[in-house]
Formats: sequence, structure tokens, C-alpha cells
Amino acid sequence: MSNRETDTDVILIGAGIMSATLGILLKELSPDMKINVFEKLSSPGEESSNEWNNAGTGHAALCELNYTKEKPDGTMDISKAIDVNEQFQVSAQFWSHLVKTGLLKNPEDFIRPLPHISMVQGEDNIRFLKKRFDAMIENPLFTGMEFSDDPEVLKEWMPLIMANRQDNEPIAATKIDTGTDVNFGALTRMLFDRLVKEDVNVHYRHAVQDLKQMKDGRWLLKVKNLETGKLDVHTAKFVFIGGGGASIHLLQKSGIPESKHIGGFPVSGLFMVCKNPEVIEQHHAKVYGKAKVGAPPMSVPHLDTRFIDDKKSLLFGPFAGFTPKFLKTGSYMDLVASVKPNNVLTMLSGGAKNLSLTQYLIQQVIQSKEQRMEELREFVPNAKSDDWELVVAGQRVQVIKDTDAGGKGTLQFGTELVTSADGTISALLGASPGASTAVHVMLKLLANCFPQEQEKWEPQIKEMIPSYGKSLMDNEELLKHVHKYTAETLDLNEVKPADHAPEDLTPQI
Ligand SMILES: Cc1cc2nc3c(=O)[nH]c(=O)nc-3n(C[C@H](O)[C@H](O)[C@H](O)COP(=O)(O)OP(=O)(O)OC[C@H]3O[C@@H](n4cnc5c(N)ncnc54)[C@H](O)[C@@H]3O)c2cc1C
Repeated sequence: MSNRETDTDVILIGAGIMSATLGILLKELSPDMKINVFEKLSSPGEESSNEWNNAGTGHAALCELNYTKEKPDGTMDISKAIDVNEQFQVSAQFWSHLVKTGLLKNPEDFIRPLPHISMVQGEDNIRFLKKRFDAMIENPLFTGMEFSDDPEVLKEWMPLIMANRQDNEPIAATKIDTGTDVNFGALTRMLFDRLVKEDVNVHYRHAVQDLKQMKDGRWLLKVKNLETGKLDVHTAKFVFIGGGGASIHLLQKSGIPESKHIGGFPVSGLFMVCKNPEVIEQHHAKVYGKAKVGAPPMSVPHLDTRFIDDKKSLLFGPFAGFTPKFLKTGSYMDLVASVKPNNVLTMLSGGAKNLSLTQYLIQQVIQSKEQRMEELREFVPNAKSDDWELVVAGQRVQVIKDTDAGGKGTLQFGTELVTSADGTISALLGASPGASTAVHVMLKLLANCFPQEQEKWEPQIKEMIPSYGKSLMDNEELLKHVHKYTAETLDLNEVKPADHAPEDLTPQI
């Protein structure tokens, strides 16, 4: 065992999309900053950020029904959809900046235009969808969305889904052409290539095993070289814990008060992948349905065209599953090891409150392929078993914590940063909306952890992200500019009003 000590400004733990985004932001804003990255696997973007481990949806709330809720007074609450859309626009602007300045070469390598469709069946669901559409179309963020319950129109929008439909249940959908498919794995790899060119030291096959704050405020990390077995010691002024599902373990090791009373509950994902090119060609959209009763929001079923390795693919899912691992490459002891005296009550309350989720997961885990095919046939009525195979996707670790609104052990479905009071360490927990909002989340981290730099950095951030600090919804001119700029730079579809859109919503671009 030998100790080789390095001291840097920043250490990023994990080489996923979050560390990649933070690293690039820091290098753009402060090129001289010294950054070390430690990743236990042998290349970047191999866990949840990998293209086969997530659904690749550019979450902009254009099709995900769980971002809108009907309130008891009958009105439609679209506030979450607005937030998610505004956050996606931040990512789109930053990626455009990287393309414009040549830091990313070909946008097609990581982002493609793809219609986003929400589809429902049954009178009650159609009433919900129409009400949701009426609320969203009034908002300039969702210009271009269309609603239809006309089978002929629906056949044009989603021929594979409408073909051979025998049931007489009415069906309706909304469609918007400005949706995207994002290859977060490719993006992560491209960003890490860039970081290496900018003199960031990226160490693969290095696992961070422990971390503690020193008297002078810096952090000391014990890092194991998995090739040689050696344990090295590295220090930094600031640490980002971007370990995906494993972040919770590292956060607990930091010992910061903010790490207490937080637990994690792993939910794994499985997709059915279509092997038949003829079937793949009949679909060109991301079609999101409604979650089943008792299902967690991330298990909303969807049938997605994907662009992976320059090939068009078709995936259906995710089916939820359960394993106690916090990463796909994690350990079966992960869940047990995350239970500590300070969070045991939180975890137990979380378990007791979420019996229906546990029940749902058990039922999902024991499903046979044929049962999964039956769920797929609700989308593709004549799907043949031989055309589809099951692939295991990534792990999501949902945060369980005590909240004022939900009480002890409340299960969270969002993405959240846990930051020490002195701003020297921050961990990212949760995975939804996830990678799509990485830029927004990392900008939030910069504001929390580098407040002394904000005044200096802000003009440059605004140059990279013109909507920074502003609501696009309330600045229609800026919104039109952002839509046009990102569509042109990233080769996406331009925002166009739907045929029936009210005159005053027509963008002048
Ligand atoms: C089934 C599924 C579907 C999803 N669909 C979408 C989607 O459609 N759209 C979307 O925007 N988001 C989606 N997400 C969420 C998205 O994938 C994640 O939010 C995002 O990839 C998380 O990135 P990350 O960098 O935090 O973590 P990861 O990509 O998981 O990276 C963490 C890295 O840290 C490393 N690491 C962990 N511990 C250590 C350690 N001790 N030392 C060194 N390295 C360590 C790991 O090896 C890993 O490489 C989905 C997730 C899942 C699981």
C-alpha cells in the first residue's frame, strides 16, 4: 500500500452525465481550475447515463402525463410541467453553446428531433388529456402541441400503435414535434473527451472509498486503484459526489449533518427491445401512456424510437424491478449498508408508507416474458414475442427523507442536491427528470457552492445560457429566440403553431 497525495481545487466522484456537465461548466467559467475525476469503471457513462440504461427522453414535459395533475377543484395543475420544460431549455441552450463554440462537434451524435406523444384510452382518461391539453396550449412553452381523438389522425401519428386495434375503447393523443431523443451515454463520453483535452485528470478504475473534511476545510479522499490495489490519498477544496445511485453511501461517509435522516430505495428498470427492422420502421415517436394504479411515476409505460450507434431502435418499458443494488454494477449489500442509526426510522416509515409500491415491484419482478408482452400489446396490439427481447436498464435510487408535507419517511421522485452548510461538498441524489436537467441542477450547485464567484461568472453564464435567471414563459420574445437558436444549432424541429392554435400564440420566427 502506498500513499500518493495530490491536491486540487475540485474532485468529481463518478464519470456520469452529472460530473461531465459540472466539469465542463467549471472549465468554461474558470479554465485554470484544477480538477480530478475518479471513476470506478473503466470508461465514462457506463452506469445510468449509458444509452442502454436510460430511456433517452429529453424530458421537457411534452409527453409525460405524470407532470400534470388535476386538482380537486377540477383545474389542471401544469406547474411541474412548466418547471421541467424551462429546465430542459437550459440544457438545450448549454448544449447549443458547446456546439457553437466547437466543444461538441456533431449534434446528431447525441440529440435527434422526435415527436413526443401522450396517448390514453377510455372516456375518463381522454377527458383528462383534453383538459391537460387545453391548459398547456395556452402556455407559450408548449406551442405546437396538437390534440386528436380522430382514429385517422392517430393512424398518421402512430401507425404501429393503431394497426390491428380490435378493442372498441376510444383513444386519444397529443403530439408535439419539438421533442427529442438524447443519447446521454454518447454525450457523457464526448464531454469527458473534452475534459481530458482541457487537462482534467480523469482516473478510471479508481474507487473512492472514504472521505472526510480536514481542519482547514479541505476534503481528504481515500481512493483505491482497482488495477493495482493501492490506496491513494487525494485532497481538494470542493468535492462533487456524482456517484449516481451510490452517491448516498459516499454522502453518509462524509458525515455532514445534511447527510442524516436520508435513505435510498432502489428501483431497477427493464426494457423490451425490438429486433425486427420492419416493426422498428413503423414507429417514429416517443409515446407515453398513463402509469398503472400503484405504479411509481418512473414506470409510466412508453414506446420509444431511439437512435443508438447511428441506428434506429425501438424500446418499450420500463418495467420496474427490484434488486438491493444501488448501481447496476453495485453490491447486493448496498441497501442494507445504507441503513444507519440516524436513518433507520426514516427508512422504516418509508417502507410502511409505501406498501403498495413494494407490492407493485414484487408483482413486476415475477412477471413472465408473456405477461410483459401483454403490457406491450396494449401499445402494439399484434406484437410478436419473437420480435422482442428483454434488456436490463439502470438503477434509480429514490430518496426517502422526512419532509414537512409528507412526514417521516417520504419517498421522493425528484433529483436533489444535498450540500454542506459551508458549500465545500455536494451530492446529487435521485434520478428524475434526471439527465435532461443536468445543466439546471449543476448551475444550482454552482450558485450554492461557489457564491463568491457568482458575480464574476454570471455574465458568461448568461452568454452561454441566455435564459439564465429568467422565466422563458414570461419572456415570450426570449423564448422565441431560444427555440429558434437551439433548433438551428442542434438540428431540431422548429416550433410551429398547430393548425388550430389561436392567432396570438403564433411565434414570429
Ligand atoms: C431506467 C431509467 C430510465 C431513465 N430515463 C431517463 C430519460 O429518459 N431521460 C433522462 O433525462 N433521464 C433518465 N434517467 C435518469 C438518468 O439516467 C440519470 O439521472 C443520470 O444518468 C444520472 O447521472 P449521474 O452522473 O448522476 O449517474 P451515473 O450515470 O449513474 O454515474 C455515476 C458514476 O459514478 C461511479 N461511481 C459510483 N460510486 C463510485 C465510487 N465510490 N468511486 C468512483 N466512482 C463511483 C459509477 O461507476 C458511475 O459511473 C433514467 C434512469 C433510469 C435508471
